[in-house]
Amino acid sequence: MFDLSEAKALEQEVIQIRRTIHMQPELSYQEFETAKLVAGKLRTLGISVRTKVGGTGVVGLLKGAKRGKVVALRADMDALPVTENVDVPFKSRRDGVMHACGHDTHVAMLLGAAMLLSKHRDDLYGQVKFLFQPAEEVGGKGGAKPMIDGGVMKEPKVDYVFGLHISGTEPSNVFALRPGPIMAAPDTFKIRIIGKGGHGSSPHLAVDPVFVSAQVITALQGVTSRMIDQREPFVISVCNIHAGTKDNIIPDEALLEGTIRTFNEKTRVSAKKYVSSVAKSLSRAFKAKAVVDFKENEYPVTVNDPAATKKVMRILRRIRGTRTVVCKPIMGAEDFSRFLQKAPGAFYFLGTINPKKGCTNTNHSSQFKVDEDVLKYGTLSLAKLAYEFGKPNGVG
Ligand SMILES: [Zn+2]
Ligand SMILES: [Zn+2]
Repeated sequence: MFDLSEAKALEQEVIQIRRTIHMQPELSYQEFETAKLVAGKLRTLGISVRTKVGGTGVVGLLKGAKRGKVVALRADMDALPVTENVDVPFKSRRDGVMHACGHDTHVAMLLGAAMLLSKHRDDLYGQVKFLFQPAEEVGGKGGAKPMIDGGVMKEPKVDYVFGLHISGTEPSNVFALRPGPIMAAPDTFKIRIIGKGGHGSSPHLAVDPVFVSAQVITALQGVTSRMIDQREPFVISVCNIHAGTKDNIIPDEALLEGTIRTFNEKTRVSAKKYVSSVAKSLSRAFKAKAVVDFKENEYPVTVNDPAATKKVMRILRRIRGTRTVVCKPIMGAEDFSRFLQKAPGAFYFLGTINPKKGCTNTNHSSQFKVDEDVLKYGTLSLAKLAYEFGKPNGVG
């Protein structure tokens, strides 16, 4: 079922859809035109459509003729505040906005899969849900949660969920994934160090928050090297520091901001606790006070279900012209993680590095350029996953 020739027959249409969306990129929660295009296309395929789900989200439901499981496929739709620096005829028509993460390709590939699947409705098991999600790029307030709150994983209840991301770090025609944790949980922190201002010549009469900040920044690296199990991937970076106005004034306060990245909930909880206690106790030792805040509702770790991932790999390996590799965990984060908390499934990447076509920059770069020849493989992979996982026996 679903061979490459069928995906190739749709290739030009999928590329055209991608270019249309690429020219009209829309920022998070403003994906109005994109959602309209998606809903229109799904309707022409005879797929039932719900719009304005969790903001600008669109959900399609395709019922197969045979009994089986419910498989959800997700594509995110938002673009980034980046000015495109790639010379292509379908360059972004909107100043300062660009599909620099390739979400335009996700929408196009998922619509391609919807075309393939609807054509084969009579052979299809179960039901396929198409989740077109707003706002993946906004951190804690991403579109997956409002969509889940809007009921997309229920009625009918989703048995498996899959998400595909185009990748500027893997070569063209390569699928990359891994069982278990694949993307990190990002936790953003703010540390306010409150001292007491004074003259630079008399630090003993002041409480110097600049000095204390330096101690805290250094000591935080000890959380990585001395407090967290070395077998657990963990990163802590202080990326922003603000204090003071002049060379001889000790300021009242200093502000540090940074991020931590973890791959399991236990490490995540202890890392946050240690960051907080190190900053507070060290500040106290030097007569200052630290107020530590973590941003709430950050994305959880993206965890691929091991059994489902094994089956996904088998399915992907059968796609002619592609290669499937096991990738290392990625320190970036994804709110696809929230769907995986509701149903087993997998998040996987499709590479797009192709130096011959000038496709060498990573996602989020103003020079990110997609090798469009890979889109047919993405389309085919999504359709195949929906078909295979829809079978009544599920993971086999
Ligand atoms: Zn991104
Ligand atoms: Zn992305």
